[in-house]
Amino acid sequence: AASALAAAESRADLNAFLHIDHDLTLAQADEADRQLASGHAPALAGIPIAHKDVFVTRGWRTTAASKMLAQYVSPFDATVVSRLQQAGAISLGKLNCDEFAMGSGNENSAFGPVRNPWDASAVPGGSSGGSAAAVAAGLVIGATGTDTGGSVRQPAALCGVSGIKPTYGTVSRFGMVAYGSSLDQAGPIARHARDLLELLDPMSGFDPRDATSLEYCDGIQNQPGRIRADFDASTAQFDAAGSQPLKGLRIGVPKEFVDEALAPDVADAVRVALQTLESLGAERVDISLPRTALSIPAYYVIAPAEASSNLSRYDGVRYGHRAEQYKDLAEMTSRSRTEGFGDEVLRRIMVGTYVLSHGYYDAYYLQAQRVRRMIVNDFQRAFAEQCDVIVGPVTPSVAKSIGDNRDDPTADWLADIYTLSISLAGLPAMSIPCGFGSQRPLPIGLQLIGNYFTEGRLLALADRYQ
Ligand code: GLN
Repeated sequence: AASALAAAESRADLNAFLHIDHDLTLAQADEADRQLASGHAPALAGIPIAHKDVFVTRGWRTTAASKMLAQYVSPFDATVVSRLQQAGAISLGKLNCDEFAMGSGNENSAFGPVRNPWDASAVPGGSSGGSAAAVAAGLVIGATGTDTGGSVRQPAALCGVSGIKPTYGTVSRFGMVAYGSSLDQAGPIARHARDLLELLDPMSGFDPRDATSLEYCDGIQNQPGRIRADFDASTAQFDAAGSQPLKGLRIGVPKEFVDEALAPDVADAVRVALQTLESLGAERVDISLPRTALSIPAYYVIAPAEASSNLSRYDGVRYGHRAEQYKDLAEMTSRSRTEGFGDEVLRRIMVGTYVLSHGYYDAYYLQAQRVRRMIVNDFQRAFAEQCDVIVGPVTPSVAKSIGDNRDDPTADWLADIYTLSISLAGLPAMSIPCGFGSQRPLPIGLQLIGNYFTEGRLLALADRYQ
C-alpha cells in the first residue's frame, strides 16, 4: 500500500487523483495483511483501487469535481464504496472526473483536466477520466466509474483499458451523486475482463436504499454471485467447442455504427477485431439499429432534464458553496449557483429547465421519451430475432487533444453517438482495447453490448478475445 500511494503521488502530472488518503489506506492495508495471514481473507484483500469522486465517502471530501461541493464531506459511504471495502479492496482515494459527470473528455473538472497516460496532450476521455487514467498508468488495479451516456466505456476506450456498465438497476446508486437518475449506473474500470468480474460481482446486488435497484426481475435474482455464475457458465459453454470456442455465438454489427462519423483507423481496428471473433467461431450478422442517430437529441433532452431537477438541491442552503455577497434569499441562491457550477453544468441546467418548461414539455421531453421507447424496441428486436451480442466501436476517433473542442461546446455531444442508445435502453455494455490509431498511436476500444443481465457472458466473451 505504501508503494501504491507513492506511485499515485509520483504521477501528479496526470491530475487523476483529487484526494489521496495515507492514514486510512495504510490502516486498511494492515487489516488486509492480518486477514491474509490468518487465511480468512476476502476475495479482494489488499487490492488497491480508487473511487470516482461522485461516490460519497465518509471522512473524505466528495466534490463531483465541482466548486459547488469543494468542501463537502458526506456522513456515510456509498453502497459501492462499502461493498468493495467489505470485499477487501483498499481505496487509495478519490479520482478526478468531469463536473457532475457531465462531459466526454474530462476537461470539465473544476480542478483541471486529467491527462491521458499515453500522451499528455490528449484527453483521457470522460467523464470517468481519472479512473481510466489511474488504471492505465498502473496506479491502481481497478477504479470505480459511472456511466450515464458512456462515461465508463468511453474513457476506458481512450486510455486502452477495459470497463463495463452493467444493466441499469444492477449496481446501487445509493451515495452516487445524481446526474440523470434514469440513466446513471456505476461500473468498474480495470485492465482485463477478469479483473472487471472480480470488481463488478461484489459491487452488484439489490439495495433497498436505491428505489430503482433491482431485486428480482425476469426470474433473475440480483445478488452478488449472479454475474460470476453467468461468467462461469458462459466460459464453459464457449470452451466446449475446442479451437472454435465461440462457435454458435451470433454477433450483430449495426450498420449505423459504421457511419461517416467513424474515423478510418477506428473502423479498421473494429473490422480486425470482428475477424478475430469470427476466427474463434462466432458468426457475424449485419443488423440495423435505425434510431441510433436519434439517440443524441433524445439523450441530450432527457439527461439535462433529469440533471436540472437533481441539481436543484444545490441551493446554497443545504449543500455546498454559498455566495458571500447577497441582498436577499433569492440572490443568495442564484449567486451561489452561478459561482459554484461550471459552464457545462450551467448549460445542461438551462437546456433541462427549458425542455421541461410549460408549453415545451410535449414538444421535447415527451417526444424524447417516445424515441427512447423506440430505441429499446430496436434493441429487443435485434436480440430476439438476429443476434446474441452486438459489437461496434465505442468512440468515433482516438482521443482528441485537450482544448480541441473549446470553441464548440456541443462537439463532444455528437461524439457520444455509439454509447448513448445503450444507456437509454439500460443495457449492459463494455469496452475492451482493440488496437491503436494510425495518425496518432492512441488506444482504440471495442464495444460489446448484451441483452439485460448478460454481464457475465459479455465478460466471458471479452476474456476469450483478450
Ligand atoms: N458525455 C455524456 C454527457 O456528457 C455522458 C456522460 C456520462 O456518461 N456521465 O452527458
